[in-house]
Amino acid sequence: MRIVLVGPPGAGKGTQAAFLAKNLAIPHISTGDLFRANISQGTELGLKAKGYMDRGELVPDEVTIGMAKDRMEQADAANGFLLDGFPRNVAQAEALDVALKADDMQLDAVLDLEVPEDEVVKRIAGRRICRNDSSHVFHVTYNAPKTEGVCDVCGGELYQRADDSEETVRTRLEVYHTQTEPIIDYYRAQNLVVTISALGKVDEVTARAMDALKK
Ligand SMILES: [Zn+2]
Repeated sequence: MRIVLVGPPGAGKGTQAAFLAKNLAIPHISTGDLFRANISQGTELGLKAKGYMDRGELVPDEVTIGMAKDRMEQADAANGFLLDGFPRNVAQAEALDVALKADDMQLDAVLDLEVPEDEVVKRIAGRRICRNDSSHVFHVTYNAPKTEGVCDVCGGELYQRADDSEETVRTRLEVYHTQTEPIIDYYRAQNLVVTISALGKVDEVTARAMDALKK
């Protein structure tokens, strides 16, 4: 099964991608991992990407697409893959179609995780991270520490990352609406879109997604 996962920031895409890939026995291909792997292995595309990043510029679509194509052609992706964080605009979606067609492949589904905007803001803006260890993560509503502002695990001070402020979240949502959401219409025209609610517990959402994909 070849799947593209889309959804706004805060939809829990990374978490769902990991569980779904495991359940479906296909590799989870995230743009973040692609960049890290290509840069650490010093591939031609990785060096190119690093050049742009070091200059503080956006990595052009063709570099990202090249990395994704290389990854999709690896042996473990022969029976499918789950793309997470790519494509993120219509130009990338079109390029992905061209790349797949060249390899005689096509997508089977585009899984769209839906979360109301206010819920996204609540989820992200409520996050609190421990200064001692960034894996100690709390949430003011959903996973509150016993003492406000203090890490349950190590007693460290909890803080809100600048990226998680309400203002930044609203900006990220705006970017998602203008750049990424149009790909849902693009794929809807190909009859590939499966929309599910991303509300509820992680395992409930995974079960919902598996049900929807089976249909
Ligand atoms: Zn801590």
